[in-house]
Amino acid sequence: MSGRPCIKGIGVEALREQLAGLGAPRWRADQVAGWLYGRGVDDFGAMTDLGRELRARLEEGFAARALEIASARTSVDGTVKAVLRARDGALVESVLIPEPGRTTLCISTQVGCPLACAFCATGAMGFARNLRAAEIVDQVCQMRRLLPPGRRITNVVFMGMGEPLLNLPAVVAAARLLLHPKAFAMAPRRVTVSTVGIRGRIERLLREVPVNLAVSLHATTDEVRDLLVPHNRSYPLGDLLETLRGLEVLRRRRPVFFEYTLIAGVNDAVEDARRLAPLLRGIPAKLNVIPMNRHADSPLGPPDDARIDRFVGEVAASGLAVTLRRSRGPDIDAACGQLALRPPAAAAGAAAGG
Ligand code: SF4
Repeated sequence: MSGRPCIKGIGVEALREQLAGLGAPRWRADQVAGWLYGRGVDDFGAMTDLGRELRARLEEGFAARALEIASARTSVDGTVKAVLRARDGALVESVLIPEPGRTTLCISTQVGCPLACAFCATGAMGFARNLRAAEIVDQVCQMRRLLPPGRRITNVVFMGMGEPLLNLPAVVAAARLLLHPKAFAMAPRRVTVSTVGIRGRIERLLREVPVNLAVSLHATTDEVRDLLVPHNRSYPLGDLLETLRGLEVLRRRRPVFFEYTLIAGVNDAVEDARRLAPLLRGIPAKLNVIPMNRHADSPLGPPDDARIDRFVGEVAASGLAVTLRRSRGPDIDAACGQLALRPPAAAAGAAAGG
């Protein structure tokens, strides 16, 4: 592993400063960003419009790559899950989800996760470390190499391994690069950060970057949410929703996407469905219902189709905007809550969920 810092962790403004320190005009940084993020070139030697001396100095001072693809598997539905290896050997997973007219990349922010949600395979792994900003954005650079010709990543969701707001500075730096016109140039409405809710940090995130917010709700009472999302004991539902109600900035953005993993016998009752609209009142909200994906580390599973339809029907009848999100890539353990770095043999043994 090279001891040089990875250049992808440096924001465009900071890169301008750094290159000025090497005696290069500041606009050279925009060219470098164009090669790294726009064209996906990881070899300074191939950045032909930079001049030999600058290329050599970049090579001397920086590594261009933070991650490499260790393995990749494609689901029958076209979803691609890859394991990426960092320079210290740490492994994380990213998932590409092609759909008609869009391709979403789901990226990780931590190696493992300390929050141990009951339905989540990542949580069952425990926590190793935060990813660096370079390791977060390099998932975009490396994963797009796996796309078929003519496809490009249109949306990025911070919903892979880890709780993004526990790694806020790196997540903000990565999101800024996704949005920067000289880097990935994505529209803010195409970038979503998902959280279970960390006290004080939602406000900080939204102040720093104009991304969409997704909140992992999963329950309508503290009693059930305490079981599913243990972090709820430190930041209970009432406090979390009160914070969201008070955030003026949310009124100028797209609605908050509330994620609701539907689990048989736990949070799938008609009463739960009826509690949702009053609970979220005062917050611009959309509910995404995701039938739980089974995995080897949890005895929990999804309800049957009739119960799923009844739940979604009740929510819709209450006037709350609701979408049922069917699972993508469950046969390769790429669906929500299934990212756990399982080798293919073990993964094949895990039942697919919804
Ligand atoms: S659902 Fe998210 S926050 Fe909860 S354990 Fe899994 S990765 Fe962590």
